[in-house]
This record gives sequence, structure tokens and C-alpha cells, in this order.
Amino acid sequence: MDTIFALASAPGKSGVAVVRVSGPLALAAASQIAGELPDAQGRVLRALSWDGSVIDQALVLRFDRPNSFTGEDVIEFQTHGSPAVVSKLLSVLSELPGLRLAEPGEFTRRALENDRMDLSEVEGLADLIDAETEAQRRQAMRVFRGAMGTLVEGWRVRLVRAAALLEATIDFADEDVPVDVTPEVLALLNGVLPELGKEIAGARAAERIRDGFEVAIVGPPNAGKSTLLNALAGRDAAITSETAGTTRDVIEVRMDLAGLPVTVLDTAGLRETDDEIEGLGVDRALTRARAADLRIVLLESPGKLPVLEPEKDDLIVASKSDSVSGADFSALTGQGLDDLVRQVGAILERRASGVATATRDRHRFAIARAKRDLESAIERIKTGSEMTELAAEDVRSGVRALEGLLGRVDVEDLLDEIFQSFCIGK
Ligand code: GDP
Repeated sequence: MDTIFALASAPGKSGVAVVRVSGPLALAAASQIAGELPDAQGRVLRALSWDGSVIDQALVLRFDRPNSFTGEDVIEFQTHGSPAVVSKLLSVLSELPGLRLAEPGEFTRRALENDRMDLSEVEGLADLIDAETEAQRRQAMRVFRGAMGTLVEGWRVRLVRAAALLEATIDFADEDVPVDVTPEVLALLNGVLPELGKEIAGARAAERIRDGFEVAIVGPPNAGKSTLLNALAGRDAAITSETAGTTRDVIEVRMDLAGLPVTVLDTAGLRETDDEIEGLGVDRALTRARAADLRIVLLESPGKLPVLEPEKDDLIVASKSDSVSGADFSALTGQGLDDLVRQVGAILERRASGVATATRDRHRFAIARAKRDLESAIERIKTGSEMTELAAEDVRSGVRALEGLLGRVDVEDLLDEIFQSFCIGK
């Protein structure tokens, strides 16, 4: 196993920079640079030097395996956050035999391999690092702290018992079975099933928190869509103009709205048109608007019909309250805008409140597979005792699908994909 090193903090100037070294040679390498090391799990201030000259005065932290992030011997140098210091330290480390620069996510990968984390915790960590809003942070933190492991373990214990009960009866001829295990097995399976269903149902909202909600602004030309988007984003992202049909394409602006990650779409003005290019824009706008999580439907003026059949929760409002009586808000003066944002936030928040621990497609698919397996097992059990063996195999297969959530089985091919999102030093 190579010993790896990397800058773990953000590159560039900073107060403190963290350079991490992990692997069998970590301690030996560190003592070559820092001299005497602190005791295990300790820290000490040292002059780091190489070739007789001092690189920097740094805090040296020592974590002996297995009590470290990676599960290996780890040294962390906390140097002054100077690009020159970091660059010198990294180049010195790269000269030491057996040491090499870490690949993206390699520290975390070692943590996974050494059972310091399960796969869902790794995903939680990746999401935590990417988290931009409060809701994202809360959700990632829950997954990172092992919520998925707790869930899966709760399911696994019951399913393994169900499978064992079924298997115990396989070797008996019908008439010799000491007790009928069917009621207990069915009770176990029927207990787990709705919990799986709940996770699947909540996964959509969880994915939204991770990837962002989409809110589309729709309305006829000149209703004030672009101006509203700009007001929400607080910058000139979309072009506003007096001429109808300027916003042909869908413009997206990502923002933090009431603590939730939201991409607001400014769609082309919806109206009948003979202009081919504008027609394309309208089609695209309609498709995107329908697929969005929520629509702010702007009316041409208060009381006019909306251009698009609103769905439940959609907000139907009129802009330009500064000059149009009866309108709900003004994107120009900001009047009533806070209230609009609050309403959008409340609707999305309500959807986000049902979130599950399953935050990714991968989780949803695995849980759905397990659910199908258990449903199939129940069918077979009800068919008769000749199906017991197959039913037991169904339950085992369901358990395997759920264990895959934690990366215990069959996930080699997934790893590369998951670790791709990591940066070097993590
Ligand atoms: P879109 O075609 O729906 O995107 O509409 P725009 O945002 O381009 O706005 C069309 C025209 O209405 C522009 O001249 C804007 O300056 C004007 N407008 C937009 N919002 C307001 C508003 O809240 N108050 C007033 N007085 N004018 C507005």
C-alpha cells in the first residue's frame, strides 16, 4: 500500500493549510521532516525542515491506525496557508521514496476500504462538501453520520430472521414441520415493506434537496418574468426589454431561496406565434415549465386568464403592483417580493419535510428492488410450502440489495463514479 499525501484544505492563500499524509510510511516520512513526532493521537508545534533549511513552523498532528480518518497511520501538517509553503512541503514529500500524491477522493476511499465509513456515509460526505444551502447541509449531515446504516441494519435483522425461519422448514417434509413459521415470516416482511415504501416515496424530495428544486416563471410576453427573475437573483441574469418575445430560450439561475437550493427558470413568453424560432422557444418553455417542481404563473394583468393550466400549489400572481392596481407584487420596486419568496419557500419546504434518508437514484433503485423481492416472497409463501425455498431466496436477494446501500456487496463498479466527485485531499 502506497503512502499518499495531498493538500486537504482549499488551494490558494489562507490562514492555515492542511497537508495530509496517510499510509504505512506516514510516521517515518513525517519524522524526517519534523524531527521527533508527538505521541499517538497527539500534536506538537515543530519547525519543518529539509536540506538544512526551515520550510515553515507548523502544527504536526499524529493519528495512529486504526484511529484515523483513513484507518491508516495519518499525519496532518497544519502549516501557514501560503502557496509557497504548501508547494515546498508537497515537493519534499514527493521526493521521499514510497510516497505519492493522492488521487481525488483517495483518502476517503481508504476509509471505506478499512471500514471506517460505509458507502452511504461516503456519499453523505461528498454531499456535505458540496452543500450550499442549509437544507442540503442538514440532509448530508444525516447521511454522513450513518442514518442509512441504522435503517438498513433495522431491516436486515428482521429479514435475515425471516429467511432463516423459511430455510429451517425447507428440509422438513410438509407433515413434519414442527411449527408453522408462515405467520411470523409474513409479519416480519409486512413490517419492513411499508418502511421501504416510505423511503422510496421520500427519496424524490431528498433528491431535490440534493440537486435543487426547479421553479419556473411562466406567463405571456411582457408579464414581467425576466424582471422577476432578476429581482430574485439580485443581479442582471436575464435580459429585460419592452419588445415581446425577447426571452426565447429558457434561462436558469441557481439560487438559495429560503434555505433551499432552487433553480429558477425564466421561460419564453407563452403565446400563439407564427414565428418558427419563437415557436420552438415556446415549446421548450412549456416542457420545462411542466416538469418543474413549482410554477409562478404570471398573469398579463390581474384577473386575466393564466397562459397555462396551473397545478396544485402553483402560484398565480400578477406583477407590476407599482403601476397596476390589484397586482400582487412589483419586481421593479421590490414591493411584495419578500412575501412571494416566503410563499415559494413554504411550498418547497413542505415538500422537503417528507424527505427520506435515501438521497440518490442509487438508493431509490436498491430499495425498490428489495421491495419487489419481498413482495415476490410474500406471493410465494401464500402459494404454498413448495415455494418456501424460492421465497427464502427472494428474501436473501432483498437483503443483498439493501446491503448494497452500505457498499457491503457488488459495488466495485460504483466506486469510481462516486469518488469522481471528490477533490484531491479528501
Ligand atoms: P417578460 O417578457 O415576461 O420577461 O417581461 P419583462 O421582465 O421583460 O418585462 C416587460 C416590461 O415590463 C419591461 O419593460 C419591464 O421593465 C416592465 N416590468 C417588469 N416588471 C415590472 C414591475 O414590477 N413594475 C413595472 N412598472 N414594470 C415592470
